[in-house]
Amino acid sequence: MSSLPVLVLNSGSSSIKFSVYEAGDGARTRLFEGAVDGIGTDLGKFWIKDASGKKLVDETPALPTRAVAFKLVSDALHSGHFPVPAAIGHRMVCGGPTVLENQIITPALIDEMESYTAFAPLHTPIAVYIMRESLRLFPGVPNFVCLDSYFHRTMPEVVTHMPIPSEYATMGVRRFGAHGISYESIVHQLQPNVPEKLIVAHLGNGASISAIRNGKCLDTSMGLTPTGGIISGTRTGDIDPGVLLFILRKIAETAESATDAADQLEVVASKKAGLLGVSELSNDMRDLRDAIKEGNAKARLAVDKFVWTIQKWIGSFFVELGGLDMLVFTGGIGENDIVSRAEICAGLGALGIKNDSARNNVRGEATISAGDSAVTVRVIPPAEDLIIVNHVVRLLGN
Ligand code: AMP
Repeated sequence: MSSLPVLVLNSGSSSIKFSVYEAGDGARTRLFEGAVDGIGTDLGKFWIKDASGKKLVDETPALPTRAVAFKLVSDALHSGHFPVPAAIGHRMVCGGPTVLENQIITPALIDEMESYTAFAPLHTPIAVYIMRESLRLFPGVPNFVCLDSYFHRTMPEVVTHMPIPSEYATMGVRRFGAHGISYESIVHQLQPNVPEKLIVAHLGNGASISAIRNGKCLDTSMGLTPTGGIISGTRTGDIDPGVLLFILRKIAETAESATDAADQLEVVASKKAGLLGVSELSNDMRDLRDAIKEGNAKARLAVDKFVWTIQKWIGSFFVELGGLDMLVFTGGIGENDIVSRAEICAGLGALGIKNDSARNNVRGEATISAGDSAVTVRVIPPAEDLIIVNHVVRLLGN
């Protein structure tokens, strides 16, 4: 295959990140990356950096709508200053039960994935919007969807099946997991020496943990939606369903309709809970660490709950895997919060995990376990865009 520019589009609820890679036979070179951030505000950010980090675009435009935001990206890529992509890869959290494979995007596929918006309600609306706009603004360029749920497709039925009446299971309600492209990128970076028994903790504003055997996902903490699993920045994580029913009944006393009540409950569980809900301060670990230093008890409780939940999941995955060879931390907290890593590892001595405080005193890629630790503990930043480019190249070849 000759070299091709491949555009990667990764949208969040208020941002669109993008990068362009030159992809040839086995070689992948990032040419530039950028983002439009602050969608829905008067003072957004739009920047593009080249491979050396030099800013090529650095603007603060009004970004009233996602249409305005994506038009900025498209106009820049059509301006003649950057290579027009030969193929485009889109990150998508969950395509639903009928779309489990990465594949070429058609209008019918977008409609099908959109029908499962309830399975990733914060992520799917903007992702399908960008896909439709991308087909329109880059006519003739093949677009491919790369799913987070793709990595989790190897989980056995006992893991994916939910303990609910089968009428709901047949509607597609099951465990899908998320952060799959991040997990896939960690396994990719460990090749050719992928340990047999691996646990990866992706700890960012959204957080999840996966048990991986011989490079394949065995189990993951997130469930139907990214709200399940461990407590994260603004999400409850797994919670007694009775708590949701209690809150729903309270909301229903003043809600305008059943839909309004469900929407309000979703905001509580996904945007107001987690570290933010418990601390009543912030969903950002940096703020919480600062507050803990000043003696803030609610911040301490929020972080203690975060650490405790992660330890419980790692313990249960240890049993499921029948032991553990390696634990990897990734994501914004996993890569940068030295204290969280130390606190998590401190409670895992029974599993043979021993952290070395000097080695742990780093940000970014490192091995942080002690020499006599039975389990290797590493920090590895994810390389999600590269994984998307690899899928695009593979699918183009097909
Ligand atoms: P992500 O969603 O992967 O970008 O991770 C975002 C989270 O990483 C933020 O909410 C912070 O809590 C955390 N984070 C980023 N940098 C640091 C840092 N230097 N120290 C502690 N936490 C950090």
